[in-house]
Amino acid sequence: MGKRQGIGLYGIIGHPVGHSLSPHMHNAAFRALGIPAFYAPFDVTDLEGAMSGVRALGIKGLSVTVPHKEAIIKYLDLVDKVARKIGAVNTVINRDGTLSGTNTDWIGAVKALKEHLSLKGKKALVIGAGGSAKAIVMGLVEEGARVHIANRTQEKAEQLGEQFGCSCSGLDLPSGLEFDILINATTVGMGEEDAMPVEEDVIRGADLVMDIVYSPLETRLLRVARGLGKVTVNGLKMLLYQAVAQFELWTGVDAPIEVMENALKEAVGA
Ligand code: NAP
Repeated sequence: MGKRQGIGLYGIIGHPVGHSLSPHMHNAAFRALGIPAFYAPFDVTDLEGAMSGVRALGIKGLSVTVPHKEAIIKYLDLVDKVARKIGAVNTVINRDGTLSGTNTDWIGAVKALKEHLSLKGKKALVIGAGGSAKAIVMGLVEEGARVHIANRTQEKAEQLGEQFGCSCSGLDLPSGLEFDILINATTVGMGEEDAMPVEEDVIRGADLVMDIVYSPLETRLLRVARGLGKVTVNGLKMLLYQAVAQFELWTGVDAPIEVMENALKEAVGA
């Protein structure tokens, strides 16, 4: 008798994960391609226990979100160069019991931007110096952009700037600066209608403004930028493309991007 192939189990681990949009995208993609697999949200506080579970249950792949992106590294068998450089893993692949970690956040950000412009030689202002900012800065530098990092805690901007060869400062940017791209990679604006990470004067100096915050879909930063006639990119695109890269790593087949994007938009009511 031939060996029966079970259903592949995938999931996202984080805390909290109740509102994660990832299950909508990945399950829609599995369904569309007829892949017998299911992707579930796992609210995890006991990371060590969860990772034993992943091995014991043969879970084939994981997305990793806050607060486990850095802590998960010590439970993996392999961590690739990119994830090491960023210091964070957002994707785990289980190949016959060997768990390897990588990071697709930077791919998501770069792809979202490249739908609008080439990054080579462009001037980018990245606000923030947390986990996502690090992935984005790495992606921008790899693509040949010149990056300035501005963060509330200036020392964190300095550390990141030193690692990737970028200039840096606090958030008190002078007016009149000019950038091709401005990216909000802070939590400012998440669930808040009226908060903005920088003043309007700073936004005025950019051609394209991307916010990686996706709830609300149009943050105040993007609203103001749109009012100033700037090209705006919301956080859904980065979310989509980091998931597309994960799906392709797990399954080895091209992701149905449109299906995933529609599932994402439906989930947020866009
Ligand atoms: P993180 O590592 O905790 O970093 C948070 C950043 O926000 C830090 O730079 C922090 O500055 C800054 N910050 C927090 N509160 C602030 C305030 N009141 N004023 C100014 N700066 C403030 O978080 P993360 O993982 O990078 O995530 C950042 C955001 O991106 C979250 O909202 C997350 O949901 C979103 N995200 C989106 C995607 C996507 O695909 N669209 C992917 C990943 C994350 P200090 O250093 O001074 O504390």
